[in-house]
Amino acid sequence: MSNDFRRINRYPDGRVEQKHLYVTYDAYCQCNCQCCRNKCFNEEAMQGKRYLLDEALLQNFGQFRHIVFGGGEPLYKIGKIVDLLKKIHFENIMEPSKGPGDDSNVTYFGIATNGLRSIFLEEINYHCIICRMFQTIILSRYHFDDEINRSIFHPRNGTELLTSDDLRGLCQSIKQDKLQLSCLCQKGGINTIEDVIEYIKWAESLGIANVLFSNFQDEVTPDTARVNLSSAPDLLDKAMQELRQGGFVCDDTIIFSAGYKLTTFHGSINSSREMKVSFREFIPEDQLREEWKHARRRTYNFSAMPNGDMFADWACGEKV
Ligand code: SF4
Repeated sequence: MSNDFRRINRYPDGRVEQKHLYVTYDAYCQCNCQCCRNKCFNEEAMQGKRYLLDEALLQNFGQFRHIVFGGGEPLYKIGKIVDLLKKIHFENIMEPSKGPGDDSNVTYFGIATNGLRSIFLEEINYHCIICRMFQTIILSRYHFDDEINRSIFHPRNGTELLTSDDLRGLCQSIKQDKLQLSCLCQKGGINTIEDVIEYIKWAESLGIANVLFSNFQDEVTPDTARVNLSSAPDLLDKAMQELRQGGFVCDDTIIFSAGYKLTTFHGSINSSREMKVSFREFIPEDQLREEWKHARRRTYNFSAMPNGDMFADWACGEKV
């Protein structure tokens, strides 16, 4: 793997660059979403060779600012992930910083789950020692209504997903500091500005202050889902406009080499709780190239597959 820059680079002109790794830690998932990215990959890439993957992560974690463990459903392998993080953690904290308050050399970890109820409540919510290993817990939650959310995820064999009541009852530290609700906008789910606003209000009422809305990435969305379920092309733009008009302020947009831009807003919908609302917009390649040139913040995306292969993009095109 190339060693072209460290976990984060800050330039005098204000530009910031960093690297992000998404790990498909295991292919197995109890759900069956029509829009699942994993349906685009072949069997060989999805075949688990954990010793190779763990080795690749142990050797290369120091290249990345953020590493997110996804799947499939990574909670089925939480024990293995925790074992790996214990080994990584020792080296990670021994990295010298460049001065007081500087965390440029630190790698942060996240986990992206669909909310497998039993394991989430038993392992993440009740074991601080596991929870503390992750700075971010990304929960894919595609609708505020439990039944509609369930119908989009199609969990098999009666497995349960976290309900609104479960989310309300989560540990305060998870809700306030770590949890991000990630909503892939789609027909049959969140598909209008009113839906977006309702979703933010619902999160706020549960005490969760961090939500993310995305559109589909065409390259890794199965054709039938792309054609039948893609949300209106201007939905995210209009939602951002609505928040601006409502007094929300936004950070500098970050351009990601995986083909999207991320804009984060801060503000309040109807109470004193400050909400962080982000929009991940997948954009055409020519637009990305143009915006990349002028961006003040950029992130290079890498990905790792269950068989240990690592790629210099999110769609697993160019192997490293
Ligand atoms: S929960 Fe995620 S990994 Fe599982 S089927 Fe849905 S999109 Fe795919």
